Amino acid sequence: MYDLLLKGGALLDPASGVNQQLDVAIAGSRIQAIAADIAPSEAARVISVKGCYVTPGLIDLHTHVYDGITQNGVDPDIAGVYAGVCTVVDAGSGGSHTIGGMARYVIPKAKTRVLALVHIARTGLAFTPELFSRQDIDVPATIAAIQANKPHVLGVKIRLVGPGVRDMGAEAVRLAKQATRETGTRLMVHIGDPDSFVSPDTTRQMLKLVERGDIVTHFFTGNTANILDANGRVYPEVREALEAGVTLDAAQGRFNFSFDAARRIIDQGYRPHCISTDLTIPGRHTLVGSLTEVMSRFLALGFTLEEVVRMTTVNSARAIDMESTLGTLALGREADISVLKLVDGDFLYHDNKGATLRGNRGVVPLLTVRAGAPMPLDYGPRAGGWLPEAP
Ligand SMILES: [Zn+2]
Repeated sequence: MYDLLLKGGALLDPASGVNQQLDVAIAGSRIQAIAADIAPSEAARVISVKGCYVTPGLIDLHTHVYDGITQNGVDPDIAGVYAGVCTVVDAGSGGSHTIGGMARYVIPKAKTRVLALVHIARTGLAFTPELFSRQDIDVPATIAAIQANKPHVLGVKIRLVGPGVRDMGAEAVRLAKQATRETGTRLMVHIGDPDSFVSPDTTRQMLKLVERGDIVTHFFTGNTANILDANGRVYPEVREALEAGVTLDAAQGRFNFSFDAARRIIDQGYRPHCISTDLTIPGRHTLVGSLTEVMSRFLALGFTLEEVVRMTTVNSARAIDMESTLGTLALGREADISVLKLVDGDFLYHDNKGATLRGNRGVVPLLTVRAGAPMPLDYGPRAGGWLPEAP
């Protein structure tokens, strides 16, 4: 006897290549059966997901969920299970001096799986810009914080933003890399400086310092020190980083997404591995919306549904080295499942450079199953719920 049966949906699992109508049965917290027609009588509870896509639990690789500690931090379940997302990675909201509260106060009360990166700035994003000088970086304390907060903390975050990075240049990245090397973890680097403190050379030098497993986020930023030269050409260092095994993430955020930059980068043959929100409280109600809305925006940019699901499931799992537990639906695995619907309509998207894009398909979440438990959804960030804004 199963505890839960998701019946009649189209299973879309890019990791295994499956895209067909299949039922999924769950016992306890685990996936127990995936088959064409599982009898409803075999399950204590049956949820019809006809007309929907059943995907591996979505992973949002770049969020800010240090709720109550940083001003903009959103409740992890608002970014997570109430939005169709099973796992969120907090990207450096806490620094070495403040990250301890994540495991003590945020993670235990969240239904969503919460992972984190510790900011190389001592106090994380409690106050921004977070790096004013070399004094804001304490490498030994960062190493100690990673060791004290395993397995929740997966590595280090740095933002190439503000006066400290202007003065230190790539030395700031070198210090962050020292902390990741000594702990065997990864670095996530935010590129794109809305205040133009940071020199484009710093981005180019950074791209030479990142290694296999590191993540470059805001791949489609249109701000200073992004990945495009003055003629709009992608720096050759991006190709080298890609070949070295660096993950490219196109987190949206409120300030680092440009349709023009995205088109130039795509036209030159580059595509990000992952897409994520960079969700904050203000971002949720303005440009960003939700992870499913960011997925819709990528459909409008020309990506396929299979691609955007891949970029929010198996690719994100791979980016945090959790492919053996997350990112695909397989027998015996923990039942983290997102149920999504593709809705036809007329939708409008804004970037942070004043450009707009129209789309005609919206991805909306219908149900989250986290470790076998079906979760209710929130209403959604827009007047129309989860649907992107109408023109
Ligand atoms: Zn961020």
